[in-house]
Amino acid sequence: MTEVAKPYRVNKGRKFHLRVIDPGDTGEFKNQEEAKELLAESIRIMAKLQQKLYAQDRWSLLLIFQAMDAAGKDGTIKHVMSGINPQGCHVRSFKSPSSLEINHDYLWRANLALPERGMIGIFNRSYYEETLVVRVHKEFLASQRLPESLVTKSIWKERFQDINAYERYLARNGVVIRKFFLFLSKSEQKKRFLARLDTPSKNWKFSDADLRERTFWDDYQDAYEDTIRATATQYAPWYVVPADNKWFTHLVVAGAIIDAMLSLDLAFPVVTEEQRKTLKKARKLLQG
Ligand code: ATP
Ligand code: MG
Repeated sequence: MTEVAKPYRVNKGRKFHLRVIDPGDTGEFKNQEEAKELLAESIRIMAKLQQKLYAQDRWSLLLIFQAMDAAGKDGTIKHVMSGINPQGCHVRSFKSPSSLEINHDYLWRANLALPERGMIGIFNRSYYEETLVVRVHKEFLASQRLPESLVTKSIWKERFQDINAYERYLARNGVVIRKFFLFLSKSEQKKRFLARLDTPSKNWKFSDADLRERTFWDDYQDAYEDTIRATATQYAPWYVVPADNKWFTHLVVAGAIIDAMLSLDLAFPVVTEEQRKTLKKARKLLQG
C-alpha cells in the first residue's frame, strides 16, 4: 500500500528533473479494476490511523496539493478523504489573495489555516503559488507592494530559503508535511478541458482563465521543477504524482498519507491508574 507511492517521493531536490516522471505512469497496475481493492483498503486504513492521530493529539498532518488546472486536485481530496472523520480534518483553498491578505506577508494566510494538533489540514493550493503563479506572472509580484529594495534577482531563491525554514520550523513543532504535485500531461489537460466543454454537467467547471494559463504551460513546468528542486527535503518531501489516470493518482496519494502516519508513534492514549479508578466508579454509578 505504501510501496506504490515510494517511486514518486522526492526527499532531496537538488538533482530532480520532472522528465524522470511520466504523467501516464500507472506503476504495476494495468487498469483501475486491478487497483480497486487496494484503494478501498487504503481508505479504511487511513481512517483508522486518523482516529489515533486525533485521539493522541500530538502530531498534525499538513497535506499540500499543487497542480495545473484539471489535474484533479479536488477529486483527489474528495476521494482520499472519503473515509476520514470530518471533525478531524479541514480543507483550505488558496485563491488569489484578498485585499486583507495582500496587506500581509505571504505566509500569513497560510499560518492562520494550519491544522491544530491531532488534525489533518489540507491545502488546496498553498504558499507555493508564490513561486509558481507569482513567478510566471510578475504583475502579481508587483501587486504585493514589497519595498523596492527587497525585490531583487534573488527573490525566488530567498523565497525558497524562507519556505524551507518555515517548513523545518513546523516540522520541529510536530506538523508533519507532505506535498503533492499532481503531474498532468498537456495532452490530458486538453482532453479534460474538452470534456468540460462537451459535457453539460461539467460546463460549470470550464473557465477562460484556465485556458489562458495553458498558454504558459512551459513556464509553469519550469517553475514547478525549480520549486521542487529547491524545496524537497527530508522533513517536507514532495511527491510528484502521475495524474493522467485519476485512479492511480488516488492510490499514490493514499499510500503516501498512510506512509506518513505509519512513520509516527500513533497510539490511543494510555489510561492511567487514576483514570481507571474513575472509569470503575462511573460504571458503578451507571449501573445503579
Ligand atoms: P477550481 O478551479 O478547481 O475551483 P482552483 O484552485 O483552480 O480550483 P480557482 O479559483 O480557479 O481555484 O483559481 C485560484 C487562482 O488563484 C489560481 O489561478 C491560482 O494560481 C491563484 N492564486 C492562488 N494563490 C495566489 C497568489 N498568492 N497570488 C496570485 N494568484 C494566486
Ligand atoms: Mg481553477
